[in-house]
Amino acid sequence: MTAKIIDGKAFATDVRARVAKHVTMIKDESGITPGLAVVLVGEDPASQVYVRNKHASTIEVGMNSYEHRLDADTSEETLLALIDQLNNDPNVHGILCQLPLPDHLNEELVINSIIPSKDVDGFHISNVGMLSTGQKSMVPCTPLGCLMMLRDHHGSLSGLNAVVVGRSNIVGKPMANLLLRDSCTVTIAHSRTKNIEELCRAADIVVAAVGRPEMITGDWIGKGATVIDVGINRIPHPEKEGKSKLVGDVHFASASEVAGAITPVPGGVGPMTIACLLANTLTACCRTHGLTEPEGLTA
Ligand code: NDP
Repeated sequence: MTAKIIDGKAFATDVRARVAKHVTMIKDESGITPGLAVVLVGEDPASQVYVRNKHASTIEVGMNSYEHRLDADTSEETLLALIDQLNNDPNVHGILCQLPLPDHLNEELVINSIIPSKDVDGFHISNVGMLSTGQKSMVPCTPLGCLMMLRDHHGSLSGLNAVVVGRSNIVGKPMANLLLRDSCTVTIAHSRTKNIEELCRAADIVVAAVGRPEMITGDWIGKGATVIDVGINRIPHPEKEGKSKLVGDVHFASASEVAGAITPVPGGVGPMTIACLLANTLTACCRTHGLTEPEGLTA
């Protein structure tokens, strides 16, 4: 069997187009332009690239983008004062504080200082609680992107057995909660899980969010299962000396021989994350102003 490739890049392009269309509609109807504020503390090179991409994507869909770059030694007090200002700014509908923060800053405190309605990353403790109790909330972007692709592929997820490998707060746990909400039977596996291969092999859906290059091989996958690979790992290029390449947490070549459908890395979950950030900003704006929410772009 050769798996169907779930093209996250094309899917993300479609999500962005739908966001852009809805943005135009609400601008025309209400004169309101959704706005996303991104706060970057320090000069982490990867974070700088992410923030640049987020800015460009936000502008592209017709939203306002507000960038706040702070020095690496910025005090917690200064950062919290900026977040307070953004919380109270009516032009800002979404606030994202790029992680990781420098060590002297308390990440939990900073995230929980963003008002839940503008927490487009879905990391605020209130949003986490609302998601886990099945209430309407802001949902973390990466799991939301995975859910959209799974819904698109399967139609209904009800009754399917899903294994989420990884239990982080930003991917594994919210992913499991979303799948549970869609009536999957969910198993969360982690570094202490016994018989992990067997659990995965029995699953209809495997979501890999481990951070270990190509750990999940074809013999872990049941015939016809759907595999969502969240992992982004840079490894030395096997053929080109001195070069590197990106791989997922799944060994794509062997898994795609067995799976029914699979996301590639790159070009799978990655592009969906920014697209879902835009979708979340739009949703936040619509909820704040009582405007019609976009269809199919929320959990
Ligand atoms: P974390 O490091 O926070 O969590 C990794 C999880 O994997 C932990 O729960 C850990 O278990 C589990 N784990 C580690 N080793 C094993 C093992 N040998 N067997 C089973 N489980 C194991 O990672 P994140 O959740 O933040 O990210 C996961 C991956 O997804 C990374 O590659 C990251 O780069 C990528 N990512 C991609 C995004 C995208 O946009 N595509 C966005 C966010 C992340 P335990 O809790 O027991 O330690």
